[in-house]
Amino acid sequence: MIDLVCPIIGEKEKRLVREVLDSKLLASGRHVTLFEQSFAKYSGVRFGIASVNGTTALHMALLMCGIKSGDKVITTPFSFIATSNSILFCMAKPIFVDIDPKTFNINPVELEKTLKKEKNVKAVLIVHLYGLPCDIDAILKLKKKYKFKLIEDACQAHGAEFKNRRVGSFSDAAVFSFYATKNMTMGEGGIVLTNDVELDKYGRQLINHGKKDHLTHVILGYNYRLTNLAAAIGIAQLKQVEDWNARRITNAIKYNKAFKDLSFLQIPYVPKNCRHVFHQYTIRISSTDRKKFVKYLAKNGIKSGIYYSIVIYEQPFYKNLGYESGLCKEAEKAASEVLSLPVHPSLSKIDTDKIIKVIKSYKK
Ligand SMILES: *Cc1c(COP(=O)(O)O)cnc(C)c1O
Repeated sequence: MIDLVCPIIGEKEKRLVREVLDSKLLASGRHVTLFEQSFAKYSGVRFGIASVNGTTALHMALLMCGIKSGDKVITTPFSFIATSNSILFCMAKPIFVDIDPKTFNINPVELEKTLKKEKNVKAVLIVHLYGLPCDIDAILKLKKKYKFKLIEDACQAHGAEFKNRRVGSFSDAAVFSFYATKNMTMGEGGIVLTNDVELDKYGRQLINHGKKDHLTHVILGYNYRLTNLAAAIGIAQLKQVEDWNARRITNAIKYNKAFKDLSFLQIPYVPKNCRHVFHQYTIRISSTDRKKFVKYLAKNGIKSGIYYSIVIYEQPFYKNLGYESGLCKEAEKAASEVLSLPVHPSLSKIDTDKIIKVIKSYKK
């Protein structure tokens, strides 16, 4: 069976974890600091605050941007549920804006319509889905005009670029996840990046019980700190993520060439000014055909995945909050048509050749 994900753990990771174990300094310390600085530098941002996972990092990013009870925050419904849950953690109100059906990312035209209609939107939380950057130019123009805080959920987009600049560097606060399935991992881990020295200071208090110094707690804080053990794995992974991204991109280009003339599927679209890092290689296939195609792939030893088969506001918990179907038509359509194929860096030439051969032999 060809798997959809396969984390790579090698000698570098083992050596650094061993170093932490031998030091007996297992909680937050030198390795965490080194990881924070290295990952911030990699993304072209001044400060990084590591956290236990991407979800807590999203919560921190929103708090750092001053989001509080009753505030309006715009986001996309076509993402992992943690994106908009982080808005609810702050007792704020998620407002969903539809996606661009080509990129699967938030549609700036729809975003402006909503900004015109809804007064006092505090923040916009964008998601670089599957590893493809959002339309940053259009979104920054809107930020200037409507004066909201911008937060990037870059949990799937380590190393992705818009006009040769890495994602995570375009917003007031940006979030990455290092969960086991992401382009680089620590098992569980996350980070918030910011260029603002005050936000950095505030974020450091948030992850550490609201502590200003050893004895003084000045705000309601949390224990969201990363461990040295996890950071050690992250330090080793960061040294390799560019190699892995390059392999993902090579695999994706190979698929694009092989699939571009197949009429029953649509290959991923990449705007000219973007570097897509293919956390997922996601095709579209008609909703009536998808189930059959998934079965056909499985029968031939190929796993595939649906991200996401249901938009966030159609989840039972969100329905109970009063959100209704029909809100974002393109997102709902995408949810019924997307399918992700294995693209990870552990695939061999034999694997990718097989995937191509199997898919090209598919008869509707
Ligand atoms: C993975 C992911 C998260 C959450 O990260 P965790 O580390 O699993 O908490 C949030 N948003 C998106 C888009 C993700 O892919």
